[in-house]
Amino acid sequence: MTNTAIIIGAGAAGLATAGLLARKGYRVTVLEKNQDFGGRAGSLVEAGFRWDTGPSWYLMPDAFERYFSQMGTSVDEELTIVPLSNPAYRVFPERYSPIDVPAGKQNVVELFESIEPGAGLELEKYLASAEFAYNTAFDNFLYTTFSKFSVFLQRKILSNFSLLATLLLTPLENYVNRRFKDIRLRQILSYPAVFLSSRPDKVPALYHLMSHTDLTLGVGYPMGGFHAVIQSLHRLAVKEGVEFRFSSQVTNITVENGQATGVVVDGEYIHADVVVSCADLHHTETQLLPEEFRTYPADWFSRRDPGIGTVLVMLGIRGLLPELAHHNLFFSDDWIKDFDAISDKGDWSRSIYVCKPSATDPEVAPTGCENLFLLIPVAADSSFDKVKEVSDSALELLALRAGIDDLQARIVARNEIGPADFAADYNAWSGGSIGPGHSLKQSAFFRGRNKSKKVERLYYAGATTVPGVGIPLCLISAENVLERLDDDDL
Ligand SMILES: Cc1cc2nc3c(=O)[nH]c(=O)nc-3n(C[C@H](O)[C@H](O)[C@H](O)COP(=O)(O)OP(=O)(O)OC[C@H]3O[C@@H](n4cnc5c(N)ncnc54)[C@H](O)[C@@H]3O)c2cc1C
Repeated sequence: MTNTAIIIGAGAAGLATAGLLARKGYRVTVLEKNQDFGGRAGSLVEAGFRWDTGPSWYLMPDAFERYFSQMGTSVDEELTIVPLSNPAYRVFPERYSPIDVPAGKQNVVELFESIEPGAGLELEKYLASAEFAYNTAFDNFLYTTFSKFSVFLQRKILSNFSLLATLLLTPLENYVNRRFKDIRLRQILSYPAVFLSSRPDKVPALYHLMSHTDLTLGVGYPMGGFHAVIQSLHRLAVKEGVEFRFSSQVTNITVENGQATGVVVDGEYIHADVVVSCADLHHTETQLLPEEFRTYPADWFSRRDPGIGTVLVMLGIRGLLPELAHHNLFFSDDWIKDFDAISDKGDWSRSIYVCKPSATDPEVAPTGCENLFLLIPVAADSSFDKVKEVSDSALELLALRAGIDDLQARIVARNEIGPADFAADYNAWSGGSIGPGHSLKQSAFFRGRNKSKKVERLYYAGATTVPGVGIPLCLISAENVLERLDDDDL
């Protein structure tokens, strides 16, 4: 008898988990509430432009390699990755001229030295430490379900125990500030906390491993954007025989004798031997399960942080914008105030991210036009009602700081997405866009686990569970579901 599996949600994690389970021999059905796959890694087409509505930084290339090899293929066969080198990204500090962060560790070391004497050598040490942290995470912490404490008893962990403890207990902000004085260098090294849906004073210094990914391994761009990545995950799942049902919102996970038996969609019961929810963990636990079967009831979430919300602005611009590189980070001087704004409902962060994928990809905009995507951090608050005001203010900020006086007049297409859309479109907890932030309290053992404690044969994958946020971690979470199934002899 072939085991059957239902996957709830066709986001990155749902697609990746579906492919792996089908390859393992399961008969897999994916149920997705929306009309298409991709979830938060969505795509929008209008007036000859195509925007990725979520991810844009292709980091941790080895996680992609590993996933594709598990699927019997490779990144090279599925995607065209263009290294971004000229520059890797551009930084716009508030009081200084823009800085091009180059590709290649040595080039970045020279850049740091040119800004702050001695910082080059300090950066070499910092990046060596970031590499150690990255490799330790990759080898010991990411591809694990944290089901056993023995994760911490591995030789590499024990022999580096005090270093790792320091990295876990020191906030990234302090770790960076102790080593670098210039605000520009501090911001370059601390900003990745936002990629972790958090802020530099909240994430542990262990996450300085992020600098290994962007400054040492480098930043790539998948031609066709993240849409191409998502399409490749879907294509591989379909090739393995996965069935997809769209416009199919799961309303209940059914449980009999303490075991998941299937789901209900539009009143129809669908049986499965295994259920994997790749929907937001908060939605799964508080909406799809009866109270007695919740591992994480509502009060567990009330003590946790849903991470950051975002206002996203997708623009089509007439004419070219040489002022901007592919990736652009705008930092304000008083960025602690910006991070406070993220927890202050109604406010917005003046430190923003702007992507111009048309710098690399001719397919995302008509000839002679540019494609822009603005990410403005706000509170994860589904009642946030200032999307238009925030988007207008962010456009003014961008025009002023990049010196593009006629930006507003050149807009030929414009779309906005805010926290309420995330809640409505993806059932995202509190309208958060990236997922629970990676503070110490919400990492590893302390993050939502990938298996229900109360219901057998019910598993979880995706950004809201272990190991965490971002497409590479979603791919890893898919592999971790297989590990759980193996542990359970399924
Ligand atoms: C603005 C933004 C920028 C980002 N930037 C980056 C980046 O640069 N690099 C990077 O690697 N990552 C980035 N990320 C993170 C990355 O996009 C996410 O971690 C990832 O897409 C999450 O995938 P997921 O499958 O866990 O969740 P989701 O994408 O939320 O997928 C869950 C799916 O489940 C569906 N669903 C929910 N409830 C139900 C139900 N009851 N029944 C059926 N279906 C249901 C939803 O519709 C959705 O399709 C970014 C995210 C955002 C939002």
